[in-house]
Amino acid sequence: MQSQHPCNQESREHCTVAADGGLHVARIAAPRLQEALLGWYRSHRRRLPWRGSKSAYRIFLAEMMLQQTQVERVVPKYHAFLAHYPTIRRLAAAPLAEVIRLWAGLGYNRRAVHLHRAAQAVVRAHGGRLPMNLAALLELPGVGAYTARALLSFADNAPVAVVDTNVRRVLGRVFQRDLAAHYGNSGPTERQFQALADSLVPADHSARWNQALMDLGSVTCTSRQPDCDRCPFFAWCQARRRGEVIDLPGLRPRGQGKFAGSKRYYRGRIIAALRERPPGSTIPFSALVERVQDREAMEMTAGWLWELTRDLERDGLVVIAGDRQDQAQAIIMLPT
Ligand code: SF4
Repeated sequence: MQSQHPCNQESREHCTVAADGGLHVARIAAPRLQEALLGWYRSHRRRLPWRGSKSAYRIFLAEMMLQQTQVERVVPKYHAFLAHYPTIRRLAAAPLAEVIRLWAGLGYNRRAVHLHRAAQAVVRAHGGRLPMNLAALLELPGVGAYTARALLSFADNAPVAVVDTNVRRVLGRVFQRDLAAHYGNSGPTERQFQALADSLVPADHSARWNQALMDLGSVTCTSRQPDCDRCPFFAWCQARRRGEVIDLPGLRPRGQGKFAGSKRYYRGRIIAALRERPPGSTIPFSALVERVQDREAMEMTAGWLWELTRDLERDGLVVIAGDRQDQAQAIIMLPT
């Protein structure tokens, strides 16, 4: 049965979503959007140290750091990692504890373990060269759809869209009416949105297009104060035309919840306490508890912190030695 096109006759002419539920954005809107955004990017692009590099390793390093950390905090760490590990082989050969120490300040420490394991996998399975295909990249530890596509686009100019929070917001607004008409007010699924984003990528300028879209979302089409008057998509943006820039629920970033007092907070404190110690040293679990526990939050019991420490061990971030059955006798260290 043929599905009915949901747009009215007037908007149908300009609709970016096909009557059969597929997407035909590329045919209708892409060339004009591409020209406008790439023109804007020439004078508005952010100058970042990994931009313009075709070194897959440098781009990989930056993208692993950028997964959950803001650009300003990534830049100095990116330089520090390159100074320590100028090649992926050097990174793979480094002690994991050293990589975890150097990761300090970036948060989400599990990424340091993933980065290190991914580097080792690249050396072991790919001769030290990051594989430039999606399936092989997705097999690397810590590499998801976003990071894999970023690498393919930025290092190889492959025609794939790199969809992060900023891109989701910008395109969700530009095509807001059509997306709501076709996918309901909750918006498209990730797969449907990826298809929309992919259909917009200019064949020869994937890297510039993806970077431009990210920059636009970061500096102009911001979450709270979109500067529509200076936006290259001003003429086409459906949210702006509607006169009310709001995001479809499915395209809003997920809240992270309160950080202070959370599991993530205490995991970070445990790793920070271990980083403070000289390389190779250990700390009794009982001493670790004293360092990590908040005076005001004494309900964070030793038992609860023990479970967190075991989680960290499962994630490869710490090693528990001594008597594992008896917390009082256990000693904790960073992995070697
Ligand atoms: S016109 Fe406004 S809401 Fe639309 S993409 Fe540009 S900044 Fe965002």
